[in-house]
Amino acid sequence: MQTKVVKIDSANIDEAAMKEACDLIRAGELVAFPTETVYGLGGNALDPQASMKIYAAKGRPSDNPLIVHIADLNALVPIVKEVPEKAKILAEKFWPGPLTMIFEKSDLVPLETTGGLNSVAVRFPSDPIAAELILQAGGYVAAPSANTSGRPSPTTAQHVEEDLGDAIEMIIDGGPVGIGLESTIVDFTEDVPVVLRPGYISLEMLQEVL
Ligand code: AMP
Ligand code: MG
Repeated sequence: MQTKVVKIDSANIDEAAMKEACDLIRAGELVAFPTETVYGLGGNALDPQASMKIYAAKGRPSDNPLIVHIADLNALVPIVKEVPEKAKILAEKFWPGPLTMIFEKSDLVPLETTGGLNSVAVRFPSDPIAAELILQAGGYVAAPSANTSGRPSPTTAQHVEEDLGDAIEMIIDGGPVGIGLESTIVDFTEDVPVVLRPGYISLEMLQEVL
């Protein structure tokens, strides 16, 4: 497959190019796009076939769960069983931003996306290109880092093309991304929230608000 690379300026998003990318995701295809952390490999998180394609393209074991990206706080409620008070506090403080939270999933989220788990990881990225893509692609985009398993997470579209070119339909080139560090993951499925993966948001930053 010939991967199409499209430059999009985050300050002035090209509507036609964005629509093309979102139509591909709605059709079950994969599109790499910038987030504020690293480049993500995006597919419709509510489409089990799309999640299977993500695992195949990355060479990632299908029991390694994907993070579901949203771009609107109201999108959280339909995909989870319950949002604990402490999670609401963190969402208010750190979303949009590099924080991922894990909740019991609702039936809307296929097990293919969660690697067979009954919980779902959710993040609300702040990058404007990511936000627009998620909204127009249906509101729920699964997006692990856009690299094959074992390779470093990509911070430029060129890295994505070198690694995944030919395995995906489209790459949105929004320039180099800012953080290069992965999101911090906090698990809310037990009574006490647990940091599963340290990231850009430190334990101290979390403890300051909780
Ligand atoms: P990434 O590779 O940055 O897309 O992050 C995916 C990682 O998030 C997985 O490898 C898990 O460590 C974690 N993760 C995602 N969903 C869940 C979940 N439902 N329960 C526990 N950890 C999860
Ligand atoms: Mg990764």
